[in-house]
Amino acid sequence: MKTAPQPLDWIDDELAELDRQDLLRRLITRQGSQGATIDVDGRRLINFGSNDYLGLAAEPALAQAVIESLQAEGWGAGASPLVTGHDGSHARLEARLAEFEGVEAALVFPSGFAANVGAITALVGRGDAVFGDQKNHASIIDGCRLSRADMHVYPHGDWRALENLLRDQTAYRRRLIVTDSLFSMDGDLAPLADISEAAERHGAMLLVDEAHATGVFGQHGRGVAEHLRVEDGVHVRIGTLSKALGCAGGFVAGSKSLIDWLVNRARPYVFSTAHPAACSAAAIAALDLVRGEPDRRQRLLATAAALHERLRSQGWNVGRSESQIIPVFIGEPATTMRFAARLRDRGLFVPGIRPPSVPAGESLLRISLSYAHAPQMIDTLVEAMAELAPLVDRVVQPPEP
Ligand SMILES: *Cc1c(COP(=O)(O)O)cnc(C)c1O
Repeated sequence: MKTAPQPLDWIDDELAELDRQDLLRRLITRQGSQGATIDVDGRRLINFGSNDYLGLAAEPALAQAVIESLQAEGWGAGASPLVTGHDGSHARLEARLAEFEGVEAALVFPSGFAANVGAITALVGRGDAVFGDQKNHASIIDGCRLSRADMHVYPHGDWRALENLLRDQTAYRRRLIVTDSLFSMDGDLAPLADISEAAERHGAMLLVDEAHATGVFGQHGRGVAEHLRVEDGVHVRIGTLSKALGCAGGFVAGSKSLIDWLVNRARPYVFSTAHPAACSAAAIAALDLVRGEPDRRQRLLATAAALHERLRSQGWNVGRSESQIIPVFIGEPATTMRFAARLRDRGLFVPGIRPPSVPAGESLLRISLSYAHAPQMIDTLVEAMAELAPLVDRVVQPPEP
C-alpha cells in the first residue's frame, strides 16, 4: 500500500544521495576511555583519531578534581553565568587562564564553538567587516555569518592578500581579522607575525583561535602566538579546554574591558547554562599538568616531526604540516574511505576526512598524534602505510599554496 508523502521524506533522498557520493557519515561508538588505544565494535584499535594530544583525557588527576568538585559543588550549574550559574570553580579557572595566558582576564564558555561565535558576534555587526582565512574552522565561519558583518575571505595563509583587502576595504566602522593559529585539517600554522603586523598597520582587531595549539605550542604551552613571539599583537585569544587539555569547554582571553564586554554581549555566554563546575575543576588540574610536565608537549612535537619525515620519505603528500596533526592527502573520498577501512582492518584507527570538512579533491587521512602513543604504535602505522600504498596513486597534487 502506498502511503502519502510525508514532509520529511526529502531527508531520505538527501541521505541516499550522500551515500551515492561516498559522503555519508556514520557515528561510531567508542567503549571505555579516550586514549592511545580505543575499543570500537569489540576491537581494540590504536587511536590516531583524537584531539587528546597530551594524553590528559583519561588522566586520573582530572577525574580526581571532578570528584572533589562534585562533592563540593554538585553536578548541574542550573543557570546561565549571569544569574547563578557562575561558581567558584569557574572563577578560579578564569583567574588561572588569565595567568596562564599572561593577560588581564579570561572567560569560560560551554564550548570552543560557543567562544568563537560569542566573541565574534560581540565584536562586529552590521556596518563592520571581518577578514578571514579560507580554511578557518566552522565555528569561526558561523560566528562571522551570525554577526551580519561583511565577510572578506583571503586564500589560505596568504597574508599579502589580507593586507590588500585591509588597504582596499576601509569603509567600515570596525574591522576584525579572524584566523585559526594551527589549522585543524592541514596541521599548518598561520603566519601570525605577518598577520599581526598587517593588523597593526591598518588598525584592525585580531582574533586568533588556538584550539589545536593550546597546551601544545610555545614555551609555556600557550599556543602558536607564543611560539612565534607575537602575543602582544593578538587582541582576542580563543582557546579550548576540550582538546589538548582533555576537558570540555572553551575560553576567551584578553583585556579586562574585552571580557566585561563579552559578559554583556556574547549571546552564547549570556543565554546558555554555565557548564558544570566540575569541568572547570578538571581544567585547572589539566593546566597544572601543562605547567608541570612540559615534556609532554616537547615529546609530542618531536614525535610528530619524525613521523612527518618518515611518511614523506615513503612518498606521501603530507602537505605543510608543522604539528601533531598530519594530513595524508589521498584526493577522492571513496579511495580515502577505503584506505581508512584497510587501516582499521589492521587495528589502526585513522579517520578519513571528506567534504564538506575539506574542499573537493582534498580528502585526506588525518593522523592525530598524542603524547600517549608508544613508539611501536607509530611504527605499526608507518609499516601499514607502506604496505597499503599500492591502494592509491600517490602522486596527489598538494593543496593550493
Ligand atoms: C574544535 C575547534 C573549536 C571548537 O572547540 P570545542 O571546544 O570542541 O567546541 C574551535 N576552533 C577550532 C579551530 C577547533 O578546531
